[in-house]
Amino acid sequence: LLCGCLDHSPYNHCSIKIILGTMNKKKDTIQPLDGTKVPRFAGPSTFARLPEIRDVEICDIAVLGIPFDAGTSFRPGARFGPQSVRQASRHLRTNYHPNYDEEPFKVLQVADAGDLVCNPFKIDEAIKQIEQGATKLLNKVDNIISIGGDHTIAFPLLRAINKKFNGPVALVHFDAHLDTWDTYFGAPYTHGTPFRRAREENLFLNDASMHVGIRGPLYSRDDLKNDEDLGFKIVHCDEFQSQGIDKIIKRIRDRVGSNPLYLSIDIDVLDPAFAPGTGTPEIAGITSREILNVLRGLSGLNLISADVVEVSPVYDHAEITSLAAATIIYEIINLFAKKSR
Ligand code: MN
Ligand code: MN
Repeated sequence: LLCGCLDHSPYNHCSIKIILGTMNKKKDTIQPLDGTKVPRFAGPSTFARLPEIRDVEICDIAVLGIPFDAGTSFRPGARFGPQSVRQASRHLRTNYHPNYDEEPFKVLQVADAGDLVCNPFKIDEAIKQIEQGATKLLNKVDNIISIGGDHTIAFPLLRAINKKFNGPVALVHFDAHLDTWDTYFGAPYTHGTPFRRAREENLFLNDASMHVGIRGPLYSRDDLKNDEDLGFKIVHCDEFQSQGIDKIIKRIRDRVGSNPLYLSIDIDVLDPAFAPGTGTPEIAGITSREILNVLRGLSGLNLISADVVEVSPVYDHAEITSLAAATIIYEIINLFAKKSR
């Protein structure tokens, strides 16, 4: 380990190359800074203190910030989500995850791709910028995990994902809300409409997609029927209590099957007790323990990319919401590590 490279960089990539060079040439990833060598409150401000994408030769998974919140209908502020989730991600112990029995950052090269530039005044232009930015990134990396940003961004992300993976994907959408409404105040691109727009372009499979965690009152008696017509099944939030985690995991797995899976996670699927810092909080939600256990149950599915959206730090307390989002992203990285085996 004493190659001297700590003089130039806090990362241990040169050390890893030397070790693996004599043992196993398969991977020589640049891992996050080791929390036992550099305190977790120090070091770079990237997600989980990973290298930036320009510092790696190959990249399996890129973590991408999309600081856009011009599509919000109530509380704004998700434009500050990416930087806040990155800050909270310093808490993560990145070496080993016992629930997956994985050292994910040894198995996969993960890097922080920084933030996309999105026009905060022209939503149409921002949609194009997000689609183009994600498409360009997906030409260089296998998978992306996007940090929102409000839920509007899922629509251009799904466009980019469809280009990369040659057609519609299974969409599993964790949210208190359907996000399949048509327009707000005449506007087609908002955080309440991304999956209606996605349906119009056939971006997700209508026999393999699902909402998880839906609850609360609706705008109309027809909302659930209209949503079903778009090709979604629903795990209602109360079913976490009436059915339990294992049954819900089975329903999701049966629905998705072997299709390529895109996860879109609105942090407001969590109860406001676990995620107060969000745009449209909805009480009686799931717990942070429940979402982690559902995600772990998706191990082995054909996960291709994901987003975690709607963290609005100004409404947060003690980084609760940002920590939840950062931890969920880390769980998703472990799902990718499992899939790569
Ligand atoms: Mn929501
Ligand atoms: Mn949403």
